[in-house]
Amino acid sequence: MTNFDPTSLPAQTFAGGTKAITTTPIVGAPRREYAEMFVPGQEELEDGELRVTVLGSGNPWVTRAQSSGSILVEVGNPERDLLLFDVGSGSIANYGSLRLPVNTLDKVFLTHLHADHTADLITLSGSFSKVGRADGPVRVWGPSGTEPRLGTRHFVEAIEEALAWDTAAGAGAINPDSMKIGVTEFDFMQTQVVYEANGVKITSFPVIHALSGAVGYRVDFAGLTFVHSGDTRAGWPLVRACEGGVDLLIHECFPPAAALAAASGLSIERATMALNAAHTSPKAAGKVFGLVKPRLAGLWHTPMLAPPIVPMIFAELRTVYDGPVVQTQDLTVFNITQEAVVVRQAQVIDQLPPIPGQQRAPFTPAMPAPPAWWAEALIPLD
Ligand SMILES: [Zn+2]
Ligand SMILES: [Zn+2]
Repeated sequence: MTNFDPTSLPAQTFAGGTKAITTTPIVGAPRREYAEMFVPGQEELEDGELRVTVLGSGNPWVTRAQSSGSILVEVGNPERDLLLFDVGSGSIANYGSLRLPVNTLDKVFLTHLHADHTADLITLSGSFSKVGRADGPVRVWGPSGTEPRLGTRHFVEAIEEALAWDTAAGAGAINPDSMKIGVTEFDFMQTQVVYEANGVKITSFPVIHALSGAVGYRVDFAGLTFVHSGDTRAGWPLVRACEGGVDLLIHECFPPAAALAAASGLSIERATMALNAAHTSPKAAGKVFGLVKPRLAGLWHTPMLAPPIVPMIFAELRTVYDGPVVQTQDLTVFNITQEAVVVRQAQVIDQLPPIPGQQRAPFTPAMPAPPAWWAEALIPLD
């Protein structure tokens, strides 16, 4: 393996960096020039292209630098489908910086039901119906558990039920279909196609994480392949799901246990336990990349992405793998085409109005009568 130079990596964006954390931002020979940073709204998605944006690169500890787990895939098909893989805390705020429509962000594929991958589902369902999702429900695909209450169906139906007040309060003002959540639960243990439409095929495969019932996903479109591990230890089902070649593999990765302990305040025992019981070390991620040989590999779901941690991750990974690797951050953007995989950071504006997007079923609101007691409780304005 090549000697690793820690000074070769760009700084994190929260520390003023403007580049993706990698020494190989371009793999292949792109047929067009890419601006140094990805500026939302200034680059059309090309026909036949996949654009993959990390909306949340972190884990349960949400910070302004790192939302919890979430990855957005924009598909260069005529429908310009938007596919969301997990929807952790803060990920929807990052989506709001991308100048993409509200109405068509309606397909969510959950890798598992940890809160750091699901918490913004309430925002996507309950709040996006108020800012532009006019045409119908959010639809969620996700794995079964070892018993019904541990499965995606139970989770989604319970969230929908918990939104009873929010839904009742929208009666008359919002298309009732837009306040529902559809759910498709599939067998976590089978490697199988769980979605196929508009030229996109999505295959789930089991992964090893915390409890039975977590999965990863493979996305195939127009001869391009993106594979996402979800949360996992290094495992064979993912390697087998990558057969035939992968353009981009985003795999979870924790820092080395000693680095995690030093950065987080956990004891070395707790840090080692958290890492070994449910997650992937840099060395293990490197081993997976060596087996899969993706055109470009991404590390994701990395806690405490502080400056000293990143070189430690690369140093350990480089003992076993020297192919192209990116440490993803929030708003790391990948452009995948036949010719090249290009990775950059997005340059965003923090405060933008929502873009509702094209609506097929505009709803004419009719406000219901207010509760009778309001008449006496309201302060008259004139
Ligand atoms: Zn997680
Ligand atoms: Zn998890």
